[in-house]
Amino acid sequence: MYRTNAWKNYDSKQEKEVMKFAEGYKEFLSASKTERLAVKEAVKRLNEKGFVNVDSVKSVKPGDKVYFVNKNKNVCAFVLGEKKITEGLRILGAHIDSPRMDLKEHPIYQRNEFALADTHYYGGIKKYQWVTIPLALHGVVCKKDGTTVEVNIGEDPKDPVVGISDLLIHLAADQLSKTAARVIEGENLDVTLGNKPLKGEDSNAVKANILKILNKKYGIDEEDLVSAEIEVVPAGPARDYGLDKSMVAGYGHDDRCCAYTSLLALLDVENPEYTGCCVLVDKEEIGSVGATGAQSRFFENAIAKLIELSGEKDPLWKARIAMENSKMLSSDVSAGYDPLYSGVSDPNNSAYFSYGLVFNKYTGSRGKSGSNDANPEYYAWVRKVMDDAKVCWQNAELGKVDQGGGGTIAYILGNYNMNVIDAGLPVHNMHAPMEIVSKADLFEAYRGYVAFLTSK
Ligand code: MN
Ligand code: MN
Repeated sequence: MYRTNAWKNYDSKQEKEVMKFAEGYKEFLSASKTERLAVKEAVKRLNEKGFVNVDSVKSVKPGDKVYFVNKNKNVCAFVLGEKKITEGLRILGAHIDSPRMDLKEHPIYQRNEFALADTHYYGGIKKYQWVTIPLALHGVVCKKDGTTVEVNIGEDPKDPVVGISDLLIHLAADQLSKTAARVIEGENLDVTLGNKPLKGEDSNAVKANILKILNKKYGIDEEDLVSAEIEVVPAGPARDYGLDKSMVAGYGHDDRCCAYTSLLALLDVENPEYTGCCVLVDKEEIGSVGATGAQSRFFENAIAKLIELSGEKDPLWKARIAMENSKMLSSDVSAGYDPLYSGVSDPNNSAYFSYGLVFNKYTGSRGKSGSNDANPEYYAWVRKVMDDAKVCWQNAELGKVDQGGGGTIAYILGNYNMNVIDAGLPVHNMHAPMEIVSKADLFEAYRGYVAFLTSK
C-alpha cells in the first residue's frame, strides 16, 4: 500500500466509512478554533470513552484509561498496557495550536470614529491572506477575582463577525508595488470592532460603546483584557471541499487533523500490549516553548506519575527508562504536492493527497537543521506495521532542498533517546485561513495510528 491512491482501493462500504469519519472530524475542527477549545473537545471525547482524569485516580493497572490536562492547553491520555510502563510506550503526538492573530494586552483603540483592536500575529503567516475575510474572536479573560470568562464571538450565524480591512484596488498603486511580505504590515493587522458612538459620550465614544457591549456581555472592563488570551481566527465551520466532496476545507488542519486522528486511534484501543498514549501540545508554531509546549516537563512528569500510580518506586528515573524504550509517531502536516506550485517540490519525495499517511524521515531547513532524522532501523519497523495493517502510506520531505523548510516536535521527544519519526497528513494552503486535507488521508492516518498503538 506504499504510494497508492487510497480511493482506488475502497469498496462502497469503506467509502461510506471514510466519509463518516470526516463528518466527525469536521465537527471537531469547527469546535476547536483554539488550543483551549481543542483540549475541551478532546476531554469530552475521552470522558465519553471511559477515560478518567488522573486527579481522581489512586492507582492504575493494565487496561485502565487515564488523562492529564495541563493548564487547559495541553493534554495527554493513556491506555495502560499489559507490559510494564518501563518497557516502553507507543506514543502518538501532535500539536493543537495554529497560526492566527492574538489581541495585544491593551488592544482596543479608536481612530476616526472606528473602534479597532491591535493584534500580534502568532506563528508564520502570509499576512495578506488574513484581510477581508470574516473573523471570529475566541478565548478567555481572567479577572482579578479569580474567575475566567470565555469569549466566543462570530461562530453562531446570529453573531456579528469582525475583520481586517484592505485597500481598494482603485487606490492601491503604491501598495501593489511592494513585495508580498510588506503588502500588509504586521502592525496593520488590526481588527475592526465597531463604528457607532455611545450617546452622551464626547471623546472616544465608539470605543466607549464597544467597552460597554463587552461589559454587558462578559462583565469585563478594559483593564481585564491585560490578562486575557483572545485569538482572532477565521469564522465559520469546516466544509466539504471539491464537487466530489473528497476533501475538507477549514481553519487549523495544521495540526488538528493529526491531533484528531491520533486521539481517535487511542479512544478505539482496548487492552494493548504496550501502554498507548496520545499527547497533544500547544506552542509548536512558536518553537514548542513554555509550560504547555512540547519542551515542557509536563509529559515526563505525567509518565512518572503513572509509574508511581502503578505501585513502583523511583518513578522519575523509571520514566526516563520508559521514554528511552518508547516508540513515537510525531504527527504534523506535510506540504501536499500542489500542481499549481509544483516547482517547489521534488516529485519523488513529495506528499500526495489521498496517498495516505505521510512519513518524513527528517524535516528541518537547509542541511536538515532542526530535524529529528529518524533511525532507519526504526523506520523499517514502522513500514512493517503499516504494511501488515494494509495502511496506505507514503514518504515525503518538505519541498525541494533549500526552498525553505519547517520544524516539528519530533526532535524534542527524540532528546529522551526514544525512537521517533515524523508522520502526518498532506495539506494544501498550510498556515492560510483556509487549509485543505483529503478525507482518505484522514482515514488512513487514523488506521495507521491504530496499527501503531496495537503493534508488538
Ligand atoms: Mn504543524
Ligand atoms: Mn505549522
